[in-house]
Parts: sequence; structure tokens; C-alpha cells
Amino acid sequence: MIVYEFKIKGKKHQYQAIDEAIKTGQFVRNKCLRYWIDGQKVSRAELYRYNTTLRSEYPFVKDLNSHACQASVERCWSSIARFFDNCKKQIPGKKGYPRFKKNARSVEYKTSGWKLLDPKHIEFTDKKGIGKLKLIGTWDLAFYSEDKIKRVRLVRRADGYYCQFCISVDVKDELSPTHQTIGLDVGLKEFYTDSMGRTEPNPRFYRQGEERLKFYQRRVSRKKKGSINRKKAINKLGRKHLKISRQREEHAKRLARCVIQSNDLVAYEDLRIKNLVKNHCLAKSINDAGWYQFRKWLEYFGAKMNRVTVAVSPAYTSQNCSNCGAVVKKSLSTRTHICACGCQLDRDKNAAINILNRALGTTGHVGTWILDPNASGDLSSTIAGSPCDSKIGL
Ligand SMILES: [Zn+2]
Repeated sequence: MIVYEFKIKGKKHQYQAIDEAIKTGQFVRNKCLRYWIDGQKVSRAELYRYNTTLRSEYPFVKDLNSHACQASVERCWSSIARFFDNCKKQIPGKKGYPRFKKNARSVEYKTSGWKLLDPKHIEFTDKKGIGKLKLIGTWDLAFYSEDKIKRVRLVRRADGYYCQFCISVDVKDELSPTHQTIGLDVGLKEFYTDSMGRTEPNPRFYRQGEERLKFYQRRVSRKKKGSINRKKAINKLGRKHLKISRQREEHAKRLARCVIQSNDLVAYEDLRIKNLVKNHCLAKSINDAGWYQFRKWLEYFGAKMNRVTVAVSPAYTSQNCSNCGAVVKKSLSTRTHICACGCQLDRDKNAAINILNRALGTTGHVGTWILDPNASGDLSSTIAGSPCDSKIGL
């Protein structure tokens, strides 16, 4: 699956109609969740049937394309399924009990309810009254036949409305082997250190933008609740957030592509971001550096380019000696690894070598990225076996 995104140009009443469709999707999802919570062992099929009831009961639900309604039911079900999954795997901490959505930002159509008039115009044909929209962007949709477009998603962001096309294509870039393997150790000081001792500096977009964010945040809190000026200030703040998260995503993507292209095997720690973020002292830097996004793109490009990505257990990677295996205790502030065997290395390089060795010793598990990284419009996690659901809205 690949995702193409266009900005939308339309009239005010069309944007309102999109808002209305998003709201309806949210309504269906929340109603289904309520039904599941109140019922006893409600199955997926029962949720589908309940959707049919909703459609006959509420005219505004019927106005939304029936498959789009189904997509909302599926969204509800996937959050239920994830909760069950987390319980089954006995993930420590919160299990992510499904919650009601208050502020949904997207609605998803499947293969009906819309048609492409030409590569630059789309028309929504259900009764929500969205109508014909102009698509602004450089992607060429004419390249794909319409039956390859499996999903069309309308997304609202601080700076306008977007249309995403999920296209089913088998993208495999055949690359010749590089005969290089690499281990990556994420750090706070550096974005990562690899097993050759090379370092990639931290971008710190967030830190840089932080002052501006604070500034806009203060402006929001100074305005009267419910006022137009407050709304405007909130929008300004939202745009700033959007800008920073786009920079972060772009950086992670560029770096990951580069690492995957130049190595046959990439090893990294299977960090549970959720656990790390608990440590407040480290929290900002970890979120900041976008390690999570980096890993997501590593696995994405790994699958796309037929490279092996391995997530290994992070236990003792920094304490063990990469030369002899002895445990050399060190605190966070000790920067150099000095072992009795004569091995003396930069702390992070030592860890990176351990990570690589662990991966080559097949103690890790191979990264399994199948879904497209933009799958749900926001950046919730879809990595198999990863409990992180850090919502970093785009
Ligand atoms: Zn040693």
C-alpha cells in the first residue's frame, strides 16, 4: 500500500459538508463502542448489523456512504481488537481500553461514494453534499487504474483539508546487496550511534520550536473561552505543531531510507517508548528526536527494499562488553566503556556493536512492517508487537 496525499480546494459549504461527514463517522464509531461496552461479548458481525440499524434510525447516518459507515465500524473494531491483543500479550501498564472519540479528524471512504473526474478532481457522490473538489499536489493518479485505489480518506488539519488515496501496489525496489550490516544505538546526546562508531546528530526541531509553541500556547490561554480570537489562536498553535511534526517526520524518513539503502541488515533496540517516556527527564528528548518515527520508517523501507530489519531486546546492551561479553556496570553519565579485557570504546559504539551481534545471533525478531505507515490518517502505531500508541497528530 502506498498513500498519496493532496490538499483540497473547495468552497466553504463543501468544507462544512466534510466536517459533517467526519462527525457522522465519529458518531457511528462512538455508537458502536457504546453498543460493545453495554452488550455482552458483542462480535464484529453484530457491530456490522448494528450499523444497519443506525442507518435506518438516523437519516444523517444514511446520508453518509454505506461503505464509509462500515469503515467507521471497522475503526471501532480495530481499537477493540487492539485492546484484546494487549491484554492477551499481558503488556505491562495500561491496556488501551477503547475510548470515545471527541475530536475525530478524518473520515474514510472505500471504493464507492466517490469518483475521480480526472486526475485533479474528485467528486463525492453520497448525500453529504461534499460534491466536486480540486486536488492540489504533484502526484499523478492517472498512473494507477481506479480499482487499485482501495481507500479515500478526507482529513482535517489546522491548515486545511486533505484527501488521501491508499493505493494497492506492490512496491519492491530491488537493490543489490551491500554486504554491510549495522547496529544502531539511539541516544539522547546523538540521534544514533552505529556499530562503526559513526554518529548522527540530533535534530531537535522540537526544542527549537518549543519557544514558539510556548508563545502561541500563552496566547491561547489569554483569550476568552469561546471567543473568535481564541479560535484563531488555537489554529495558529495547531499550525506550529503541524510544522514541527512534519519536519520530524521528514527527517526520520530521509535518514531511514539512507540507512536501509546502504545496509543489508539493520539492527536496533526494541524499545518500548511507553516505558521510556515514563522517565520524565528523558521524555522530551526521546519524543523530540522522533526515534519512534525513525523505527517505523526503517521497517517500512526494509520491507519495501527487501532488507532485513531486526529489533533486539534492549537488556544490557550498554552494560555488556562487546568484545568479551563481561558485564561492565556504568551509569548514564559514563561515556566510555572500559573493560578488563582491554576493550576501550565509546559507550554508544559498544552498545551498537552489542545490538548488531545480538541481531546476527538471531536473538531478536525480524521487523514485520506490512501496513503503510500513514494507515490511519494520524500516526498511531501499527507495528506488530509494539504497544506504543503515541498519537503524534499530523
Ligand atoms: Zn571485555
